[in-house]
Amino acid sequence: MSSSADVPRRRLAILGATGSIGRNAVAVAKAYSDRFKTVCVTCRSHGELLQVISNELSVRYFYCHEQPEFSNLASESELYSLLAGPEVDVVLCAIQGIDALKAVLTALRAHKTVCLATKEVLVGAGTWVMATARKYGGTILPVDSEHCAIFQCLRNEEHRAVRRILLTCSGGPFHDHPERDLHAVTLEEAERHPAWNMGAKITLDSATLMNKAFEVMEAAWLYGLSESQIEVVIHPQAVVHSMVEFVDGAVMAQLGPTDMKLPIQYCLTYPERCPSLMRPLDFTHPMTLEFRPPDTRRFPALDLAHQALRMGGLAGAVLNAANDAACRRFREGTLAFDEIVPAIAEALAHTPAGEADSFEALATATKVADDIVGSL
Ligand code: MG
Repeated sequence: MSSSADVPRRRLAILGATGSIGRNAVAVAKAYSDRFKTVCVTCRSHGELLQVISNELSVRYFYCHEQPEFSNLASESELYSLLAGPEVDVVLCAIQGIDALKAVLTALRAHKTVCLATKEVLVGAGTWVMATARKYGGTILPVDSEHCAIFQCLRNEEHRAVRRILLTCSGGPFHDHPERDLHAVTLEEAERHPAWNMGAKITLDSATLMNKAFEVMEAAWLYGLSESQIEVVIHPQAVVHSMVEFVDGAVMAQLGPTDMKLPIQYCLTYPERCPSLMRPLDFTHPMTLEFRPPDTRRFPALDLAHQALRMGGLAGAVLNAANDAACRRFREGTLAFDEIVPAIAEALAHTPAGEADSFEALATATKVADDIVGSL
């Protein structure tokens, strides 16, 4: 084993540094400053926090998309040049939503390693992203805890040895409460997650199970599997982060504390494992792990992921854009909680022909989704 002293520090860009994943990435980068040099941090609108982070990590470049006064890069294109250039080795992408796509493609084309937390880029443009990584020799490492777990279970395993993937799902605040009237769920209730402390968008997506639907698609793209090979298992304790079942019937699972710093650290230090400051799981006290199938009647989101994967083309882009539009309407109070997923299904049924291989095609998909969801 080599000590970190003989390894040159990896130069890191953290995109979306002020969000929930981003702040965890900053904490990891800080804890391992002997391994990483953070050269660039970005955010959308929290310029002041970005400045604090920049100072803390002595970051050379910082960019706030909506507040140029908190940026020392002149434009988005200057940021992309930096990501593609010789000063950055690893891009950790924690930007929310499909907006991250340009940065991800830019980094992959420059054959960089992208530690990807933004599942929407795979949901909306999976073929494009994976083809770009292959063509230019870019590497995607999954930060999403489930996909990082699968990645760990698949180390040194052959693709054909995999029978299926079992994505664990905490269920969100309503799955295990069949008595709850989902029509009456308020925004405040939907934004409270029982297991993970996350940003508002992903918390709402977790409550509808759209987040897990996205993760089904994310897993299909990352691991080159068919939709029928991916199953979701409700696991309220969120200790098993996901499992892989092999053709011989063996199931490998990855367990660990519920903290996003772990998958972030795993991706950043990959292929090495490093000691962490995290409190390990405590097996000296009784611990119960429960697993059960999801209630797809009350939570039809998961079916939409399988449907979108079977459809291909722009279906994922429509699914993602329709979710954004429907969640916007729920936040505005013009759509009930239990109307979010049916609205997305309606948009999916109107998916236009075409492939998700250009920003124009994605804009078309977004427009269709916005129009359908807006008309309901
Ligand atoms: Mg996840």
